[in-house]
Amino acid sequence: MRPFSVVHSLIFDPKTRRITGVRVIDGQTKQPVELHAKVVFLCASTLESAHILMNSATPEFSTGLANSSGQLGRNLMDHMMGSGASGIIPGHEDRVQIGNRPNGIYVPRFRNVKDKHPGFVRGYGFQGGGSRDDWGRGSETAGFGADFKHMLRQPGSWRFTFASFAECLSHPDNRMELDKNKVDAWGIPS
Ligand SMILES: Cc1cc2nc3c(=O)[nH]c(=O)nc-3n(C[C@H](O)[C@H](O)[C@H](O)COP(=O)(O)OP(=O)(O)OC[C@H]3O[C@@H](n4cnc5c(N)ncnc54)[C@H](O)[C@@H]3O)c2cc1C
Repeated sequence: MRPFSVVHSLIFDPKTRRITGVRVIDGQTKQPVELHAKVVFLCASTLESAHILMNSATPEFSTGLANSSGQLGRNLMDHMMGSGASGIIPGHEDRVQIGNRPNGIYVPRFRNVKDKHPGFVRGYGFQGGGSRDDWGRGSETAGFGADFKHMLRQPGSWRFTFASFAECLSHPDNRMELDKNKVDAWGIPS
């Protein structure tokens, strides 16, 4: 384990045609360090793994390692989040759920099934359910101190939430690229 190690790029050995290590920038001294290993796992998440492969370009692989297809950094997909509605249902404050929360509901995809909409493909469903607000409501409630903490330990209002779950389709133009003129805090092209 080596803390404060920001990976700059992979080291490619043209003789063996293998990755032999990583170039690292020390996060505190900002000095470059090379670390060698028999096996290198690249698992810096979606964007950073692509970023590191792009920065690992060699004269032979000028657009980045593992990019013979030209697909490196393309087809980025995200998932829909926060689209839906949620509302407080007043009343029944004397009731609490026993055991697990009330059962959830699911509305399966009902649009764009047979009659295809010209504006979009595929579809979406909705998931939801009822529950009593818990301590998590503290993130959007003003207050602090012992009384505030005590209040958050008590059940909040009943709430019903309905959220859409939709697909983001892969598209080659949904992509990330390196800006050769910009570097990050460690001097790494980003
Ligand atoms: C708010 C939120 C909620 C989520 N909820 C769910 C869920 O309910 N269910 C589910 O299945 N998934 C969920 N996910 C997705 C899930 O967390 C991720 O898909 C998963 O953690 C990705 O794992 P990973 O190992 O690929 O990347 P990460 O967990 O992101 O790990 C990458 C690591 O690499 C390090 N790193 C990056 N660049 C460098 C570098 N240059 N040098 C050194 N280190 C580097 C990072 O610091 C990080 O520690 C959620 C994600 C978010 C953000």
